[in-house]
Amino acid sequence: MFQVGADMRLFNTMTKKKEEFQPLVAGEVTMYSCGPTVYNYFHIGNSRPFIIFDTLRRYLEYSGYKVTFVQNFTDVDDKIIRKAKEEGISEKELSERYIAEYFKDVEGLSVRKADYHPKVTEHIQEIIDIIKRLENNGLTYNVDGDVYYDTSKFEGYGKLSKQNLEELEAGARVDVNDVKKNPTDFALWKKQKPGEPAWESPWGLGRPGWHIECSAMSMKYLGETIDIHSGGQDLIFPHHENEIAQSEGATGKPFARYWLHNGFLNVNNEKMSKSLGNFFTVRDIAAKYDLEIVRMFMLSAHYRNPINFSSELLDQTKSGLERLYNAKNNLLHLLDNVEDKQLSQEEIEFQKKLNSYKAKFIEAMDDDLNTADAIAAIFDMIRDINSNIKGESSKEITSYAYNLLMELSGILGLLQKKEDNLDEEVEKLIEERQKARKEKNWAMSDKIRDDLKAMGIVLEDTPQGVKWKKV
Ligand code: AMP
Ligand code: ZN
Repeated sequence: MFQVGADMRLFNTMTKKKEEFQPLVAGEVTMYSCGPTVYNYFHIGNSRPFIIFDTLRRYLEYSGYKVTFVQNFTDVDDKIIRKAKEEGISEKELSERYIAEYFKDVEGLSVRKADYHPKVTEHIQEIIDIIKRLENNGLTYNVDGDVYYDTSKFEGYGKLSKQNLEELEAGARVDVNDVKKNPTDFALWKKQKPGEPAWESPWGLGRPGWHIECSAMSMKYLGETIDIHSGGQDLIFPHHENEIAQSEGATGKPFARYWLHNGFLNVNNEKMSKSLGNFFTVRDIAAKYDLEIVRMFMLSAHYRNPINFSSELLDQTKSGLERLYNAKNNLLHLLDNVEDKQLSQEEIEFQKKLNSYKAKFIEAMDDDLNTADAIAAIFDMIRDINSNIKGESSKEITSYAYNLLMELSGILGLLQKKEDNLDEEVEKLIEERQKARKEKNWAMSDKIRDDLKAMGIVLEDTPQGVKWKKV
């Protein structure tokens, strides 16, 4: 079967190389992305992986794969427990509230729902089962009801983050505590502390450690070996390293075949994060900007590069997006007016040119999801469309250009929003203006032009008729 994506190359953090992407089962892709801890609105740094991996999923689907995509919700952890206490509500109430808010924000960002959004609290049995397997394999130890993973017993520990144990131990990023045998050991099961939510287990009442949920939920929904596992670069160590130790320690099989990590969204060259307080929530931004602008902003850089956030850059992206919508609206307007006639020789040539933009777009996306170059190909294409497709063009070439613009933008999740029947309203006013002009009612004609201007619509009288665009 011909597949566009057969040529896709992805940078694998495990091998530190771009590799040809070949899923385990031909034509099918299994993908797991680490999701948010739901105790607050998410910030636009967090939205970067949501947007990037949604785009990867869309592109893989476009390339002909059947993709199964899982993204979890961490709905029990220290921060959730603390915040629920502060608000005097249950952990469940708090996490359900922010799950609902998550779905509102991602809708604005055109991030589609995953096939499964599993929650930790609904997978306690699966988590216990994996810890039991690890226990049977001699990879754990129990300190008075807290169960730890003994990282010194897992041979490949450190293989993803490419550090040896000594280096990892020297790093300050691991939770230091006296009862652990090695600094990199981590909790699989935490004994209940007074007032905390807890579940029955073979080790007594308690709750799962953070990392085990992703091993359990990935295995449940996607199988023991999956194709793509993804998240932000901060998750490489310790989270993903620990997921590998857990999953491979339990099954003896490779956990994920391609590890993808996005770079950080920075503010003044510092990672945007809740703990630093230098963050804007998606909700804050939505009050000032259409979230489609945020989506386009994230896709304007390569996903592995850091990006600096600033309102100037968002403003630039806003005008870029407007150019795309103008091109779309102009084509729609022309489609209502152009003649249904045979393609001219020039149009046949222009169609080939359009196909070359599509090829550039695909080449960029195949090259480790280079959305920056893919967007550049779309901009080059619309510049050419704007100067080549006119009132005297054939319907066939006009609709070819329109469909291609929508096809490529759709892969990026852009240009999908309906403009509140703007087209219809504008068309009606333009018609009325034409009538007024015919009747030499200049006052009325000028008034309509001004009304349109107030709506942000600019008219241009051309030999082919009246053209309009949104500014
Ligand atoms: P968290 O809720 O903190 O676990 O984050 C959810 C996702 O957002 C993870 O994949 C993180 O790696 C990612 N993330 C957090 N902060 C940033 C940032 N400033 N830039 C890019 N990705 C981030
Ligand atoms: Zn995870």
